[in-house]
Amino acid sequence: MAKGLKGMGTKYNCYSCDGKFYDLNRAEPICPKCGANQNEAPTKKVSRAAPAPTPPAEPKPTPKPAKSSKSDAPIPKDAVPGPAVDSDFDDDVDIDALVDERTRARADRDFARAAAIRDELKERGIALEDTPHGTVWHRE
Ligand SMILES: [Zn+2]
Repeated sequence: MAKGLKGMGTKYNCYSCDGKFYDLNRAEPICPKCGANQNEAPTKKVSRAAPAPTPPAEPKPTPKPAKSSKSDAPIPKDAVPGPAVDSDFDDDVDIDALVDERTRARADRDFARAAAIRDELKERGIALEDTPHGTVWHRE
């Protein structure tokens, strides 16, 4: 009659009281200390590893449409800058400067230069008129 561990059945570590015992080959491994049936042990004792709470669905950043060049294009290529309307002011300044220069040229008796300026203005459609009060110009 050999006594040994073999006859003691399966060793258990009680899930309830943490006591160690052998089931003695009984059908149900009942803990002798607390009477807990080890077959009823909560297999999911690792309950602390609770399923991670599903993170709140992060709002997907709306991907910027790749082809936004349509709205980004500030000016259509066929939008040609208008004709010389805007350049009138610059022309006037330019003409005034030339008239002043011609006036100085005449004062210096540099009539060749004065004539050249007069011709220059004439090409632009500007007519000069010398008055006692100075030179005035107007568009022809
Ligand atoms: Zn126990």
